[in-house]
Amino acid sequence: MHSHQIPRPYQREESPHFPPAPEPLPVPVYDNHTHFDMPSSGSGVDAVVALKDALDAAEAAGVAGAVQVGCDLPSSRFAVAAVDADPRLLGAVAIHPNDAPELAAAGLLEAALEEIDALAAHPRIRAIGETGLDYFRTGAEGVADQHYSFRRHIEIAKSRSLALQIHDRDAHADVVATLHAEGAPERVVFHCFSGDAELAKICNENGWYMSFAGTVTFKNAQNLRDALAVADPALLLVETDAPYLTPHPHRGRPNASYVMPYTLRSMASLLGRDVADLAVQINANTHAVYGSWG
Ligand SMILES: [Zn+2]
Ligand SMILES: [Zn+2]
Repeated sequence: MHSHQIPRPYQREESPHFPPAPEPLPVPVYDNHTHFDMPSSGSGVDAVVALKDALDAAEAAGVAGAVQVGCDLPSSRFAVAAVDADPRLLGAVAIHPNDAPELAAAGLLEAALEEIDALAAHPRIRAIGETGLDYFRTGAEGVADQHYSFRRHIEIAKSRSLALQIHDRDAHADVVATLHAEGAPERVVFHCFSGDAELAKICNENGWYMSFAGTVTFKNAQNLRDALAVADPALLLVETDAPYLTPHPHRGRPNASYVMPYTLRSMASLLGRDVADLAVQINANTHAVYGSWG
C-alpha cells in the first residue's frame, strides 16, 4: 500500500524555469489543491528536489502548507505517503473523471474505488478529489462512466465525512444536478473554479466553496473575475493546481505552491480588499473545509 516513492516534487526556486519568488504574504495561507508528484513539462534535469525543499520555498512565500491531491491510484497512494512525510501536507484521494472511463472499460473501476475508500481512512486525508465531470477531455462515450464514478465518490465523501473536491470542466449544469440528485456532502469545493457569476450564485446558495486558481489572473478570464466579484467571501479558497495554471505574469512557466501569492494578491486587488485581510478570511475558510494541519 505504501510502496509508492516518497514525494519527489518538481519545484526549484532558483531554477530560471520557475517564476521568481513573490513577496511573502503578510498572513500565511494554504494551497488547497496541488500535485507535488507531477513533474512539470520540460523542466529537465534540475527539476526534482525534495518535497521538504518545495514546502520550505512555499512557507518562505507565506504559503504555510498544501493539500496534495490524487487523480488515480498511484497519485492517491502518493498523497498518503506525502502526508506521512511532511506535516505541512493534508491529502485528497480520487480517480479523476478523465481516468474513470478507461478503468471502467478494463473492469478495474470498482476495485479502484474500493482502494480510494480505504486510502481515505488515513486521518490526514481530508477530502475526496479530484472527482467530478470533464466534458472537455472526455467525449460522449465516457459520460456514463464519469457520472457513475462521480456518484461513488460523493458516496465515499459522505460516508467518511470528508470534503469533496470537484473537477468541473465544461460540465457545470450536470455537476450541480448530480450534487442535488445525490445529496451533496457537507463540504463541497469547486477546485479551479471555472464558472461564471451565475455558477457562483448557485454556489453561494448552496454553501459550496469556490477555489480560485491562477486562471483568475488570465487576460481572457473576465467570467472568472465576475464570479469572484459575486462569490460569498466566506466561501472563497485559493489554490495553484501546480504544475498547471501558472498565474499572470508568469504564464508559460511551471507552477508551484510558492507561486500562489501572485494569485491571492490579484484576487485582493480585484475585490478591493487588503491582502492580509483576504488572507485571514481564506485561511479561516480553508480550515473550515479541511480541519487543522497541526
Ligand atoms: Zn482538476
Ligand atoms: Zn488538479
